[in-house]
Parts: sequence; structure tokens; C-alpha cells
Amino acid sequence: MTYFFETYGCQMNHAESASVEQTLISRGWTRAGAAEDADLVIINTCSVRITAETRVFGRLAHFTALKKKRAFTLLVMGCMAERLHEELQQRFPKVDFVVGMFERQIFIDIFQALEEKRPYISIDEKPVNEYFFAPSSYESGAFQTFVPIMNGCNNFCSYCIVPYVRGREVSRAVDEILAELDVLADKGVREITLLGQNVNSYRFYDPETEKTVNFPALLTAIVRHIEKKGSIRWVRFMSSHPKDLSDELIEVIAREELVCSFIHLPVQHGSNRILQAMNRRYTRESYLSLIGRIREKIPGVTFSTDILVGFPGETEEDVEQTIDLIKTIRFDAAYMYYYNPREGTKACSFPDQVPESVRKERLARIIKLQNSLSADLMRKRVGKTVPVLVESTSRNNPEELFGHTELGEMVVFEGKNNTGLIGNFVEAELICLRGRTFRARIKEAGTDILSR
Ligand code: SF4
Repeated sequence: MTYFFETYGCQMNHAESASVEQTLISRGWTRAGAAEDADLVIINTCSVRITAETRVFGRLAHFTALKKKRAFTLLVMGCMAERLHEELQQRFPKVDFVVGMFERQIFIDIFQALEEKRPYISIDEKPVNEYFFAPSSYESGAFQTFVPIMNGCNNFCSYCIVPYVRGREVSRAVDEILAELDVLADKGVREITLLGQNVNSYRFYDPETEKTVNFPALLTAIVRHIEKKGSIRWVRFMSSHPKDLSDELIEVIAREELVCSFIHLPVQHGSNRILQAMNRRYTRESYLSLIGRIREKIPGVTFSTDILVGFPGETEEDVEQTIDLIKTIRFDAAYMYYYNPREGTKACSFPDQVPESVRKERLARIIKLQNSLSADLMRKRVGKTVPVLVESTSRNNPEELFGHTELGEMVVFEGKNNTGLIGNFVEAELICLRGRTFRARIKEAGTDILSR
């Protein structure tokens, strides 16, 4: 039997799709080359922006038309399945299954029914209203993977739909995470990203020890655990809420070599007035002070961030404050977007919505600034020797190898007789920059420099 996935939205959605995919593969299913050839098409949806929802509606109309020509099963999961359950069923009666965020235990029953070519009989009882962490999201042959450690969010930023569709925070058991890391290490994974809407508010109560494990403690436990196997050598995490990034966590990042010194810390805005309207619960000053404390404790640390432009009530003065904050901090990278009203969120009904043309113009200014800062910071790295995880041969030139640095920068280098390096770390000198990719020279070939 064959399946096909279409995934929209955040890394969490991609990790969840990969983990459902692993469940299918372990049951003997294979991936179809195109949706048009699959026995089962799964669309994992996103509700964060209206454009993502509109796109899914378009795809559902396409698959509905396709179903008139041939029989296959159509399943919708993810945030839209949670938020628009009834609407999806009414508007698209040809969709066979709409599986909400808290009913994913039924996946196995659905797959089994399809394999046995019998109708799926839904159980009368509603599934337990608990988030279900699917097993490993590892994709065959990959050296890096995402490991979900928590789901949901308690923060209710006024523009964000996530707490309404993913529910309150639920943390995954420590033992379950460590067991998954063993499986990943055995498969040769070298880099993991611990994933959650709000990773640093991870909190798991262990009934056996009667202790609560917080994120710094989990990170330490993970490092101690993976050290024994030696395969996983880079640990990242995202996303962090600035108000929850504690001094205890800074100590752990500073102390543990396996934790990458590259932190994604969404600031969203540089104006206190807007931060307050966003319900972010930190100020420009406290964010700057946090960055300062991190830089002091972790020399060489770098940051990426999220910037949201055009929030209701935003004035030119507020934009200037964001520009000033970006220039002051000099983020290595930023994900920048303009505000789109999201039905169901508080900000949707705020007065003084900024016209779209103004939002776009402000965003273009911010992007231009950040791109020039990023390029500047990258140029300054030319000449440095850094560890690189070699991932594959280059797509453009099979005689070159492709990899990335601890900061996530793309690197290519001579690879004619070096394919044995794929899956290993090398020390490479960054010799020049082409666009956003470094050309590098290997300083130490054939050595796993991080496992010394
Ligand atoms: S922290 Fe704010 S922006 Fe992030 S998921 Fe929670 S509510 Fe949304």
C-alpha cells in the first residue's frame, strides 16, 4: 500500500508528519512518487496564517475532483483538523478522515482498516483528551532530525492561534525521549533539534522519583545520555520564549559542549507598547538584558529571531524602535513576516489595523536591513575554521560535498575522493562566500573532530 504526505506549517508539523510516516513504513507501506498515485493521501495542515488555510482548501478541492476519477483515502490532520473539524467535513464530504490534534491515537486503527480493506469503525468513546506523541520522526538516511519534547502553549500571545488549536502545554516523559534518542543514535543521527512551541517551559513530573524535570535538567540529562553512544554530537532546541529562558538554562548551554551556541529567541517587536499589546510579557529592556547575559556567559553565541511587523496600532515610531533593536543586537538571521489578522485571536478585533500596503512596505524595509546585517556577519566569518556536519554530495556538483555549520550556514567543499566523510564532522576553513553558501577547505579530513 502506498501513501503520500503534504505538510504545511511549522517544524512541529513536519516532525509529526515524519513520525506518522515512520508508523506507516513500519507497517509495510511505501511512499508514492506523487499524490495522484497513492492509496492514502494525508494533508497535515496549519492554521497560523490564513494563506496556509486557503492553500489547503484549494488542495482539498483538487483531491475531491481526483476522487471522482479513482478511489483513494483522503485524511486531514493538524491544526485545521482541530480548529475546523466540522467545517471541513461539511465543505469536503469526500474527505474520509479528519483527525484532530487530540485524537491521533486512532491513526493505527485507520491504517489497520485500510490494510484489511474493511471500513473503519469508529469507537463510540471519544479518544482521551491527551496529546499523543508519536514515535521517532527520523527520516531514513538523515543525519539530523527533530525530536518533539512538548506540545501546546499557555502564553496566548494576542495574535497567535496556536494555544487554541494545540491546547495547553503537555511535556513528553523523559524516559520516552531518551529511548528515542537511543534509536536515533543507532541509526547514525548526528544532530537533533528538540522541538516544542515553547521548549523552555518543558516540565515533566516523574511519579517514580516524585520530581519535576524542567528544561535545563532535561537538556543536561540528554547530554549525559547521548555522550555514552557518541553518535549525536549537536543538540539544538526551538522555539524559546524570552520570558522562560532562565539563567539556569544559560549555565547549561555554556557548560555543555554538545549544546549548540546558536539560539533562536523570537523577539517579535522592538516597541514596548506593541510587545504589551501582543501579550509577550517581556519588555525591550528585559530582552536586551537577556541577550547581554547570554553573550557574557557564552562567548561566540549567535542568535536568530522572529520579527512581526504591522501589528494593529503600530506607528512609524514603533517600527523605528524595531529597526533600532535589530541594529543593536545584530541577529545572525531572522524570520520576518507581517501581521495577518487571525480569526479567533484577540488581536483580530483590535482597532487601528494597519493597511496591508503599509505592512508590506514596513516588512520590506526590515528584511532589507536584516539581510544586509546577515550578509555582513557571514562575510566576517570568511577565514575562520569551524566544524561542519557533512550531509551529502552537492546537488549542483556531484564532485562537491555539502554540509552545514553549527550556525546552520550552508557549506560546500571539494569532495571527489571524500564521500566517506558524509555523516561525519570535519574541521573546515571558510574560504569565500557565494550568495548564502560558503566554499570551504577541509583542514582535517577523515576525522570525526567532535568525538575526540
Ligand atoms: S508563545 Fe505566543 S507566538 Fe508562540 S506559540 Fe505560544 S501563543 Fe503562539
